[in-house]
Amino acid sequence: MNKEYAKMDAGLLHLTNKKVLLKLIKQKGQISRSELTRITGLTPPTIARIVGELAEKDQLVEYLGVGNSSGGRPPVIVKFKNEGNYIIGIDLGATYIRGCLVDLNAKFISEIQVPTEMGKGYHQVIEKVVQVIQKLQNRKEDNVKIWGIGIGVAGLVNSRTGVIESSPDFGWKNVDLREELKNRLDLPFFYDNSTRLMALGELNLGARHNPKNFAVINIGYGIASGLVVDGKLVMGQIGFAGEFGHISVDTNSDVQCSCGMYGCLEALASGHRISALGKQEIINNNSDLLKKLCNGNPELVTAEIVARAAKMGDASSIKIYNEVSEHICKGIGTIANLFNPEIIYIGGGISLNGKFFFDLIERKKSKYLLPQNANIHIIPATFGEQATSIGAVSLVLKEIMNLQLS
Ligand SMILES: [Zn+2]
Repeated sequence: MNKEYAKMDAGLLHLTNKKVLLKLIKQKGQISRSELTRITGLTPPTIARIVGELAEKDQLVEYLGVGNSSGGRPPVIVKFKNEGNYIIGIDLGATYIRGCLVDLNAKFISEIQVPTEMGKGYHQVIEKVVQVIQKLQNRKEDNVKIWGIGIGVAGLVNSRTGVIESSPDFGWKNVDLREELKNRLDLPFFYDNSTRLMALGELNLGARHNPKNFAVINIGYGIASGLVVDGKLVMGQIGFAGEFGHISVDTNSDVQCSCGMYGCLEALASGHRISALGKQEIINNNSDLLKKLCNGNPELVTAEIVARAAKMGDASSIKIYNEVSEHICKGIGTIANLFNPEIIYIGGGISLNGKFFFDLIERKKSKYLLPQNANIHIIPATFGEQATSIGAVSLVLKEIMNLQLS
């Protein structure tokens, strides 16, 4: 074999072994070196060398000392070094910017939520993102390392270049967020679409153990989905897969979507649609309760206010949520029948209406699901309001575990 190839192969093999050991140590929390030898089949000197590297150079593993021996040499115990290693996750949404500081087991150290106020313009929004990150940085103890920052944004995000190619929520086109932020903060940044990050968060850190086929539907002021098939996130040709909001659910509809088409799910079932329908009910004098809840001003009605009125028994608001959830169930039927997932998680602002909303979905879903798909679990996203920021954390964690940031 050519010497250069042999050298390259040895390097690659070493990196692969190192990643396997790091993953095992993280999974187990703590484990003895001899146990690592037994599980991986690597030799004790190789294990000792790699663990030493993970501890001293990468600072991702620490020695706990020696354990009890049942005869022979006492075992050397190593542990995943969670303490003192942090990640920042940011959810850059049209309504709120949410940030969290977590350790490598995604345990919350601190979190911040501020209104986005996107009306103030692009530069103000970037300034707010920087402030949220700086505040989170200031909340960490001394001698703690922040490995990187993950950011989720609604829209078509090029995860390789960090360019937001298009974000209808913000009205942005070809915005180079990475360029803006790297001039302000000296940390590695990683980006992706906010709903795909929700799916990544469920995949790597979610409550259900290791689901291989599932969808996350994000229903807020926009509608999107993240799909995981056979344990892998579906990206599509140019990273635009999962535009669930733009499947047609009513071909006769005269409601035009932001994409230009008519009858899209997003046009008929998003938070904007719910507030528009609520506003119309107030203008038509159909609901005294809705009017009261927004102080007589139809402009102030929100999807959340309509939900509150519906829960209080307001007929107009119940009608609105009935109509909207019917459309959502058509969409759920499409995903379920196409992909046959185990679970469909629903996240985003509308899902925060809890039991009221999920009961509506349960009641209507059977009309649109094949009998073979009737057992699919339709449940709230594990991390609620933090789903995107935890997904952003998981994006950075993936890089750490692949030893790309060491
Ligand atoms: Zn559309």
